[in-house]
Amino acid sequence: MSDEYDVELTEEHRMLRDMVRKFGDNEILPKADEDEKNHRFQRELVDQMAELGLFGCPVPEEYGGNGMGYLAHAIVTEEIGRVSGSLRVAFNMQTMGTALSILKWGSEDLKRKYIPELMSAKLLGCFGITEPDAGSDTAGMASTAVRDGEQYVLNGRKMWITWAPVADMAVVFAMTDKKAKHKGMSAFVMDMHAPGVSTIEIKDKLGLWAAPTGEIIMEDVRIPAGNLLGEEGRGFGFLMQELASTRLTAAAGAVGTCQAAIDESVKYANERSQFGQPIARFQMVQEVIARMVAETEAARALVWRCAIQKDRGLLNNMRETVIAKYYACRAADEVPNLGLEVLSAYGYSNEYPIARILRDGKVYKILEGATNIMKMIIATDALGIKKANR
Ligand SMILES: Cc1cc2nc3c(=O)[nH]c(=O)nc-3n(C[C@H](O)[C@H](O)[C@H](O)COP(=O)(O)OP(=O)(O)OC[C@H]3O[C@@H](n4cnc5c(N)ncnc54)[C@H](O)[C@@H]3O)c2cc1C
Repeated sequence: MSDEYDVELTEEHRMLRDMVRKFGDNEILPKADEDEKNHRFQRELVDQMAELGLFGCPVPEEYGGNGMGYLAHAIVTEEIGRVSGSLRVAFNMQTMGTALSILKWGSEDLKRKYIPELMSAKLLGCFGITEPDAGSDTAGMASTAVRDGEQYVLNGRKMWITWAPVADMAVVFAMTDKKAKHKGMSAFVMDMHAPGVSTIEIKDKLGLWAAPTGEIIMEDVRIPAGNLLGEEGRGFGFLMQELASTRLTAAAGAVGTCQAAIDESVKYANERSQFGQPIARFQMVQEVIARMVAETEAARALVWRCAIQKDRGLLNNMRETVIAKYYACRAADEVPNLGLEVLSAYGYSNEYPIARILRDGKVYKILEGATNIMKMIIATDALGIKKANR
């Protein structure tokens, strides 16, 4: 067992967690069910999160971040994920999928132009990888970027893009050389208000109703050549590194969902009486609670291990990120289901938040890579077929 499991949070981490917990409980939770029911995206809450500096943990101060690191980021993300799966996505849209990509591969001009604006939420971000016919098989994407003098011309369609309908900018991936397959993929920063960009909202999703999701249609979108991240053909490698960040955020959010399910179930089990005693006294209810707690704590330990490794400089720890993502996202599917067992019929109504929590938890096995892909990475690494950390 690695000593990275033996975590003592610093005073700074604890203060940050307490501050975010208070913010989540006071500002987000009271409206969370209502916002979900009304499919209401709360831009004001994103602004408030920015004001509290929540997006900036892995971003250096010179670009508007606070440099507290990845463990801090995981703690903050869990706390927001606990009160709203819909608002949790902000940490990938403002930080991991956008600001960090630009920080790693963008020119100094791009860094100065975009990162502080993402940190302050003056600009909302999104990132576009998935296409109608390219989900797990990202290298099968059809979008193209063709160099034309001092510009690139982008064409294609992105699908299932979180915040597409509300975003101001996007980190998008497109093929600069289709024949070269994954070696022909490149990454760009695209202004979502540029001529030729349009979006279509995907309505009637299973969950995350307060987080708009949509398609991005790119028709002869001209962007400055300087908006290319790194060099042409490097996009696939960048994408893998980006996923090593965004998957951590998804996993941390998943732990928040699990914790929310525990909190609701414990409260209910102590309040609800049957056969003359609180249902918390029944051993079979206790067994369910025990599984919920053990699964959640195991998931949190894996998330923290991954975050701590990154804080120690191992940024591309895909193996540990994927293990955390696999475990936490599976837990986020299972733990709220167990919560529903505890709340039973009342959990089946919208009177209690477990229905929202259950819907929140469903998405994690899909986002940032489907569970089968996580298992494939873990297994091929273990079998010596393909090293995950390169
Ligand atoms: C709410 C929501 C928000 C999203 N936000 C974004 C976003 O912001 N940006 C973005 O780019 N994408 C986003 N996505 C897309 C998401 O990343 C993809 O859905 C995901 O990568 C899986 O792709 P797919 O759904 O097309 O599944 P597919 O790739 O079609 O897979 C279908 C099934 O086949 C399995 N499968 C596929 N390949 C293999 C294989 N080689 N071996 C074994 N099994 C396999 C999968 O595990 C899955 O069970 C979002 C999705 C949702 C639902």
